[in-house]
Amino acid sequence: MTRDVAVLGAGALGTTVAFDLAFAGEDADGGDVSVTLFEAGSVADGSTGRAAGVCYDAFAEDVDAEVGARAIERFRTFDETGEFEFHESPYVWLAREGDADRERAIREQLPRMQANGVTAVRMERDEFAQRFPSLTSDDVAVAAVAGAAGYTTPRSYARTLAVLAKRQGATLRQDEPASVAVDPLRVNGERFDDVVVATGAHTKQVLAGAGFEIATKPYRVQAATYATAYDGPMVYDATDGFYLRPHADGVLAGNGTEEREADPDAYDREANDGFAESLRERATARAPDVEDARITEAWAGLCTATPDRDPLVGELAENVYVGTGFQGHGFMRAPALGETLAEQVLGEDDGIDAFDPTRFDGDEEFDVVEGMLVDDR
Ligand SMILES: Cc1cc2nc3c(=O)[nH]c(=O)nc-3n(C[C@H](O)[C@H](O)[C@H](O)COP(=O)(O)OP(=O)(O)OC[C@H]3O[C@@H](n4cnc5c(N)ncnc54)[C@H](O)[C@@H]3O)c2cc1C
Repeated sequence: MTRDVAVLGAGALGTTVAFDLAFAGEDADGGDVSVTLFEAGSVADGSTGRAAGVCYDAFAEDVDAEVGARAIERFRTFDETGEFEFHESPYVWLAREGDADRERAIREQLPRMQANGVTAVRMERDEFAQRFPSLTSDDVAVAAVAGAAGYTTPRSYARTLAVLAKRQGATLRQDEPASVAVDPLRVNGERFDDVVVATGAHTKQVLAGAGFEIATKPYRVQAATYATAYDGPMVYDATDGFYLRPHADGVLAGNGTEEREADPDAYDREANDGFAESLRERATARAPDVEDARITEAWAGLCTATPDRDPLVGELAENVYVGTGFQGHGFMRAPALGETLAEQVLGEDDGIDAFDPTRFDGDEEFDVVEGMLVDDR
């Protein structure tokens, strides 16, 4: 008996699931597994192709830390294939003088991270100044640095995983928007034994077509690149709410979150007027190298929010699986969450309780909240 699995969406998550299923080749009962990856456009056409590629495992919750660590481990392993590049780079986050809430949150979260095995240390201002001379330090109240971190071009990850999945026998069907029907389970009219819906910001509507309601809302975020010389670490300034990382042009910086629901079919893919200029000013306050740097690109993309800011990953109904709602941390977790989803489909794993997609009814009212918050979670 062959188990036919359809994976919908060739972003970071879908390509990982397809690769892991194809690589396994058989399920827990020894049955063959056949994988078809449907993509409405081309690989990484969704949020993955617009993401910044900042990756780390610095999470205070144990489950998040575990997922983050596994993802970094896999990024490093894929890097060893020689077909994908993961750039090691420390991840620094900080609160400024006068921002007592975030300062306290950073101080409180660090021991929890360390207890979860995260390699992260606190830095007071002098140490920060010494260690990162290319960054402004005189306004820093407290900072922290995580070592299991790095960045990559997210599009290259999805493309590499799609190629690896195909090599393992998966079928990739691009330019083929998929719709799901149940009883019996079908994708675009073809019978499948299992369906994994990983269609990013479109997941809610793809599932609605099959009669499932989920509690997610897409929201718009923005990023820009700047031509400059920068040899510092990846930084998240929690007080001002922006991040930056080294980039081939010099620096990639982002945030510009709009805390309201966006339409995945009609959102503005260009950055707002003035966004890149104003972000350059904010980033200059932390990384003076960015001052006067030429803007090379500016764009917008979608993230997806959930009522409790944890993602929906797992079995939604019999043989119907979902992965979405990553609140701005979807790329960095995709290697681990894709692996978990594949293991669930194969009957080898029960999934992650905290991310159980059935924990909501789907009709919950909630506000979109910025994804990278440093707060008292
Ligand atoms: C500007 C920006 C910066 C970001 N920075 C980071 C970051 O630094 N680190 C991080 O971890 N995350 C970041 N994110 C979030 C990250 O991009 C997402 O969480 C992640 O890419 C989600 O991957 P995915 O595979 O779930 O979805 P997607 O990448 O959106 O993939 C879904 C795919 O499904 C396809 N699709 C849609 N409908 C259908 C259909 N009906 N049938 C078939 N295919 C369909 C789409 O074309 C798309 O290719 C950022 C996002 C943005 C916009």
